[in-house]
Formats: sequence, C-alpha cells, structure tokens
Amino acid sequence: MPGILTFALHYEGAFNKNSLGAVTEASKLARELGTEAHAVVVGENVPDELASQLGAYGASKVFRVQAPEGLAQPVVDAMAKVMTDNGHDYALFGGGLLGFEIGAGLAARLNAGVTMEVTAVDVEDGRLVAQRPILGDSAISESRYRGKGIIIGRLNAFEMQQSADAGSSATVEDVQVELSPWSTKARMVTRGEQRGADVDIEGADILIAGGRGLGKAEGFETLEQLAASFGGNSAVAATRAVVDAGWYPYAAQIGQTGKTVAPKLYLAAGISGAIQHKVGMQASENIVAINKDSNAPIFEFSDLGVVGDLNKIVPKLIDAVKAKKGG
Ligand SMILES: Cc1cc2nc3c(=O)[nH]c(=O)nc-3n(C[C@H](O)[C@H](O)[C@H](O)COP(=O)(O)OP(=O)(O)OC[C@H]3O[C@@H](n4cnc5c(N)ncnc54)[C@H](O)[C@@H]3O)c2cc1C
Repeated sequence: MPGILTFALHYEGAFNKNSLGAVTEASKLARELGTEAHAVVVGENVPDELASQLGAYGASKVFRVQAPEGLAQPVVDAMAKVMTDNGHDYALFGGGLLGFEIGAGLAARLNAGVTMEVTAVDVEDGRLVAQRPILGDSAISESRYRGKGIIIGRLNAFEMQQSADAGSSATVEDVQVELSPWSTKARMVTRGEQRGADVDIEGADILIAGGRGLGKAEGFETLEQLAASFGGNSAVAATRAVVDAGWYPYAAQIGQTGKTVAPKLYLAAGISGAIQHKVGMQASENIVAINKDSNAPIFEFSDLGVVGDLNKIVPKLIDAVKAKKGG
C-alpha cells in the first residue's frame, strides 16, 4: 500500500519533538488519503520499546535500520530502500538541518520532487499539496508532485500529538540496508545540546531581541539583565546577523530562517528591521525598537521607537523596570 514515510530522530532513548510532529502530521494525512503512516528509525540496537512508541503518534509500522544515528547519509540510504521496496509515495520531515539534508539527498536519490520550509499540507484529489510561504512570507506557493514527493516542514510547523488510540504500539520491522561507501565516511564524534537550546523564545510573553547594534557578544549580557528585570515569562532573542557571528545561539534566532514569535512585548535593541527578520516577529502585540538611526526600517513597524544609543538606554531601562517592580 503506498503511504507516507517519516524519519524519527532519537537521542538518549527519546524521540525528538520535531520528528514526533512529523509522525503526527503523516498519520493525519495518511488517514485522509486512506493509507498508512510509517516511520524509519536508525541507530545501533534501537530497542523494540523505543521504536514501537511511534504507534502512539499514529505510525502503524516502524522500519528499524542498524546504522549510525544522527548522520544524514545513512538515513538517505535507509529511507530510499524502504520507499522503493514498499512503494511509499511521500516522505515527510519536521524542519531542522538534519531533515533538510536527508530530504534533499532522498529527493536526488529517488528523482522525487522536494519542497522545503513547508508550513501546511493538504489532501486534494487523493494527492498531497504542500504549502510554502514565499516572498518574505507575503504569499503562499503550492507544490504538487508528479511522482514521489519529499515534504520538509519548517521547524516546529507540525505539532506532535498522541493519536486517539494513544496506547497503541507500532509493528517493528528490521530492514537490512547496504550503506553507500560515502555514508560510512563520517562518524559522530559527540552530540550535545547547543547552548541556549532550552530557551523557549516561542513561548515567551516578553522578548528582548538584540542585533548587530550591540557591537559585541557581551552586549547580550545587558539584554539578559533586562529580560531578568522583567522576570516572569521573558527571554532573549537575536537576529541572524548576530547568531551567524557566534554572539548568541541559533536557537534564539527570529525570522525567515529562524523562529516565528508573537509575544506580548518585543523589544528590539540594535536591530535594523530587515524583511527576513520582520517576518518572524511582526505578529508581536507591542513592538518597541531602540536604534540610533532614525531612518532604520524597524521604526516603520514599531509601536514605539526610541532613537538613541542602546548602550545608554538599555541600562537606564533596566533601572526603570527594577524601580517599577520595587526592586
Ligand atoms: C535568505 C535570507 C534569510 C535570512 N533570514 C534571517 C532571519 O531569519 N532572521 C534575521 O534576523 N535575519 C535574516 N536574514 C538577514 C537579514 O537580511 C539581515 O541581514 C539581518 O536581520 C540584520 O541583522 P541586524 O538587524 O542585527 O543587523 P544590521 O542590519 O547591521 O542592523 C544593526 C542596527 O543597529 C543599529 N545600531 C548600531 N549601533 C547602535 C547603537 N549603539 N545603539 C542603537 N542602535 C545601533 C544600526 O543603526 C542598525 O540599524 C536573512 C537574509 C537572507 C538573505
């Protein structure tokens, strides 16, 4: 039966949230198509109990492949074999760099169509249609596939949810995959969480965002103090320019290639307001910008603009917030 295949990344005995989102979405779409959602799990001696857990998110079958986990190329080999042998029409991935790399490799291997940064998938006439925002998120393009389709979501686009039959476990089938010579060239040396990966900027009510105007990485320490002075559900975010420069973790990046946020207050310090940044924060309830250039584009979509040097304004703001809070 043709169906939808996903890849479920795991680490230290637990599946990644993005992968579970993809499995959930695949299962929802498979039901509409009248087919099944399956998943591929790769790793050294993945236990049955772990692999079968994907059943709770709607996967009816899990193909288990003995190969290094966390690297893209072995997964491309595994998914290409599973899709070819079982006739899956689609592969669906949550966002993230690994999903992009595997999806691109799989599309090339299978001569399939591929769409990245997908935010929604619909069923039309028995086929999947992927929606992808384009032109700085001002329009939506739709992708339909002539043959096999590879659909890669934007990070966190697909929400994970246990299926109605949450107690159900998936059938686990072992698959022998001959790895391509290049797939064994890379070796995982170490794996860990990126600094700041646990910061929940998408769930924050108050976001203090910093840009290149901070001048140096240490500028973020002042922003962290400001966020702390607000207390409660506040966090620090960043532009791509500064995460690329290594001043702050990628997990905190807002924008087209980062996260989309809509806090109650978004305070931008030293951020010019480029379109690629704007698309990630324009839905914020209140936007306050501090910029020394009165012509900075960010002022065009700010509720309150402060023209001046952030090095002078932010410390005063910290004092003012602390005073207001009585401490
Ligand atoms: C395909 C693509 C995707 C992209 N995706 C993203 C994305 O997801 N997110 C993102 O943010 N960007 C993204 N970008 C980059 C984007 O185009 C901008 O380059 C970036 O947002 C600029 O970051 P910035 O505002 O920190 O720096 P700048 O544009 O350099 O702005 C710095 C600002 O600080 C002000 N300033 C300087 N000193 C001070 C001071 N002492 N006090 C007050 N203000 C000061 C300056 O006047 C200036 O306005 C993307 C670009 C491309 C091409």
